[in-house]
Amino acid sequence: MMGRFDDERAEMVELIHERGITDDRVLSALRRVERHQFVLPAFLHRAYEDSALPITTGQTISQPYTVAFMTQALAPAKDTRVLEIGTGSGYQAAVLAEMGCRVFSIERHMDLHLQARKLLERLGYRVATRCGDGTVGWSEFAPYDGIIVTAAAPEVPQPLLDQLGDGGRLVIPVGDQQSQRIVIVTRHADQFDTTEADGFKFVPLIGKKGWQHNGR
Ligand code: SAM
Repeated sequence: MMGRFDDERAEMVELIHERGITDDRVLSALRRVERHQFVLPAFLHRAYEDSALPITTGQTISQPYTVAFMTQALAPAKDTRVLEIGTGSGYQAAVLAEMGCRVFSIERHMDLHLQARKLLERLGYRVATRCGDGTVGWSEFAPYDGIIVTAAAPEVPQPLLDQLGDGGRLVIPVGDQQSQRIVIVTRHADQFDTTEADGFKFVPLIGKKGWQHNGR
């Protein structure tokens, strides 16, 4: 049965494809996850714009192109374990769950954590969620095949590198609070190989190994 937003969602994914995202697993996950479920009611009519939108507590649901870019960079295989830092609305976690990943996601705001957990459950996504400071990772379930950070860090937090498994990949925006680059780190035993991409904008990653509340 056709849903109310199916055409808009298909157009959004087509635009993301035209902008250079080619991984079919990422594109088909974006076609399946109903982004309109993750936005505030006031922004329902903008749910399939390719833009970040406000959610509660002054945070944002990331731009769909950014979600696609980071997920393509992470390239998580089915059944692998992925840690997300910054659950926010739960949208990125749902995209990873659609790709068949075992997702663990941490959010520092209790109300966002509770809302996202409830929504993900209601939509049938199996995601382990926790409220806390994601800059120190989630050691209980480490090592991870992939770690994705959806808020901008001043530098790559060492605990996240420590919790990355051999062959695993970490995708994280790094920079000051005005402009950031996405850093992609691949672990080979004790060696960490890094590549970077420019031109993204994120809310700050706040925590022990991130920014302090008002920047440093
Ligand atoms: N992945 C989210 C989505 O799909 O809606 C995007 C959320 S927003 C761009 C980034 C989130 O990171 C915010 O909800 C913010 O509260 C959270 N955050 C910032 N610092 C954090 C930390 N140290 N630990 C966990 N979450 C953090």
